[in-house]
Amino acid sequence: MSTALFDLTGRTALVTGSSRGIGRDIAGTLAAAGARILVNGRDAAAVDEAAAALRSGGADARSYPFDVSDEAAIDAALAAIDREVGPIDILVNNAGIQRRMPMTEVPLETWAEVLQTNLTAVFLVARAVARGMIERRAGKIINICSVQSELGRPTIGPYTASKGAVKMLTKAMCAEWAQYNIQANGLGPGYIATDMTKALREDAKFDAWLRARTPSGRWGQPEELGGAAVFLASRASDFVNGQVIYVDGGLLSVV
Ligand code: NAP
Repeated sequence: MSTALFDLTGRTALVTGSSRGIGRDIAGTLAAAGARILVNGRDAAAVDEAAAALRSGGADARSYPFDVSDEAAIDAALAAIDREVGPIDILVNNAGIQRRMPMTEVPLETWAEVLQTNLTAVFLVARAVARGMIERRAGKIINICSVQSELGRPTIGPYTASKGAVKMLTKAMCAEWAQYNIQANGLGPGYIATDMTKALREDAKFDAWLRARTPSGRWGQPEELGGAAVFLASRASDFVNGQVIYVDGGLLSVV
């Protein structure tokens, strides 16, 4: 098989939440496959730093800091991207947050914050980007899911609800947009060593439990998501639609 199937030369990819963590590594791997990267996050300085790091590695990377939970900010950023760069070929909906507490103590504001960022933002950004993809009859949408798209766990009720819904939103996108040659798929990380899981990794009891619970016996690293992201962003996945690929060290397959 030719690696040309995975070549992203000439494609533009917007990766939300790519200033650090999983999104940053996915952006780097898509860039290595040839894509132009639009880096995003709320912290403009962090976005600029990540874009500069990509450029120093030879990539074409530009900064677009905006809050994915803010509809007006999305519209303004996408209009600027359209003017300054052109069409988005690949959208990775990666930005996400976690708030851990017992469900009986979750304030409505916290529930709303998690759902707005992890779920509603995926809808808002994809809705706007898909309009152009439909016109062009081509597009790749990758929604970052989680093992919590399938599994519950105490203290992360809003997050689990949001990630389960992102899985089903991915199928809804497939149902409406596959006819326009848009492939919408999910990528579901297991437990990955990022800022989001720092407290868990520093908790010796959780760390031991996670290593024992994961068939691979370890935490995943952000760079381990890139290969599946390139596959889902490339021609290699042109007949794959509405699926979630879990990159979880086997966690979901074994009890
Ligand atoms: P992270 O290290 O905390 O990074 C999150 C990224 O999203 C940052 O770039 C952050 O930048 C950005 N972000 C957060 N809220 C945003 C908003 N409203 N608008 C724009 N950007 C925003 O998290 P991560 O671990 O890499 O997680 C990335 C994705 O993978 C999330 O969807 C997460 O749920 C999912 N995931 C993670 C794991 C894991 O074990 N780490 C497992 C399964 C799924 P700013 O804060 O500057 O905005």
